[in-house]
Parts: sequence; structure tokens; C-alpha cells
Amino acid sequence: MSEETRKIVFLVGFIITYTIRFYFAGLAKHNKKVVDGRVTVLEKVLLFLVIIGIFVLPLVNVFTPWFDFAAYDLPNWTGWLGTIVFGLAIALFWRSHTDLGQNWSASLEIRDEHTLVENGVYQYIRHPMYAAFWLWGIAQALLLHNWICGLSYLVSFLPMYLFRVPQEEQMMLDTFKQQYQQYMTRTGRVLPKFFPQSD
Ligand code: SAH
Repeated sequence: MSEETRKIVFLVGFIITYTIRFYFAGLAKHNKKVVDGRVTVLEKVLLFLVIIGIFVLPLVNVFTPWFDFAAYDLPNWTGWLGTIVFGLAIALFWRSHTDLGQNWSASLEIRDEHTLVENGVYQYIRHPMYAAFWLWGIAQALLLHNWICGLSYLVSFLPMYLFRVPQEEQMMLDTFKQQYQQYMTRTGRVLPKFFPQSD
């Protein structure tokens, strides 16, 4: 797959993913927040890094030659693999948004009519949306062959993921108590648990 085609595929996937995000963000607005304000300064800094890594740098790479000095060479088939991985990321992203419905929020929040979602993809993993983000990051590295702009997603998302997931799970435990605790024993974070009863 040529460099131009890889960039076009990336851009199409990028537009689809952001369209899904904005569509569902609009829907969730109707469900008021009751637990708010968990956005600390550290989280704002991490969020800023994520925006650079998942939004700014890949677009700069697609539209300008500024980072061409950091290009890497991968075999042609990696472009096709990246296309498949991006497709899986989009499918999982869409599905987790439809399953989570109005309980979605960009930062850690509990909404007015918050329910614990344990069905759909959430019956297998607790963080399918973040799993979709990991797939998206892998797709970016496979489609944009660049040490800076290809890897920027994975590098910028890792600290945010490590910081946020324990806090989110604690918030869910505080809110849903035993129900979430039981849910945790059945599910993995981003990979399904194959032997759930061994916990
Ligand atoms: N971590 C999840 C959700 C990301 S959206 C995922 O990766 O799919 C973040 C918001 O989702 C959090 O503020 C929390 O309020 C809500 N949330 C997370 N898991 C949930 C669940 N199982 N049921 C309902 N809401 C959930």
C-alpha cells in the first residue's frame, strides 16, 4: 500500500471516529451530571498530551512534510493490517458508545440517571472504549510510518490510561459498590477474562 493510500485510509478512519464521538457526546448531554469535578490539573496536562498525540501530530503528518525526517520503513502489508485494525477500532468504538448510551462522559463523572452497563461488549471487558483507543493507536503506527507521528498516539495515551482507569474504577465502586465489585470479577479491563471464576 502506497504512502498516499495509507494516509487517505488513516484520514477516513479519523473522520469516522470523530464523527461517532461528537454524535454520542451530543446525546449524552441530556443526562445531567451529579458527580463532577474530578478533573485535576494532572489530568488536564495528560489530556493536553493526548490531544497532541492523537489529533495534532497525525494531522500534521498527513498534511505536511515537516516530520518526514523521522519516517520509518515498514513492509507494504502493514498498511493493510493497519486498515483492518482501524476498522476493528471503529466497530468497537461504535459498539461501546451504543452500549454505554447516556452514561458516557469525557471526564470521570456520574450522571443523574446513571446505570451500570454490564451488557453488550461490557459483559466481556470493563473498558471497551479504551480498548478501541488502543486499537486506534496501533492502527496509527501501522498507517503513518513515522517515529514521531505514528507512535504519538500510543506514547501519549499510555500515561492517561494508567492514570485514569484506577480512578474510574474507584468512582464506579463508590457509586455501585457490590454490583461493580461482582462485575469486576467477571470481566477484564481491556481483554476478556478467560477464567473468571478463578478470582
Ligand atoms: N471506561 C469505559 C467508559 C469510558 S467513558 C470504557 O472504556 O468503555 C467514561 C465514563 O463512563 C465514566 O465517567 C463512567 O461514569 C462511565 N462508565 C464506565 N464504565 C461504565 C459502566 N460499566 N456502566 C456505566 N457507566 C460506566
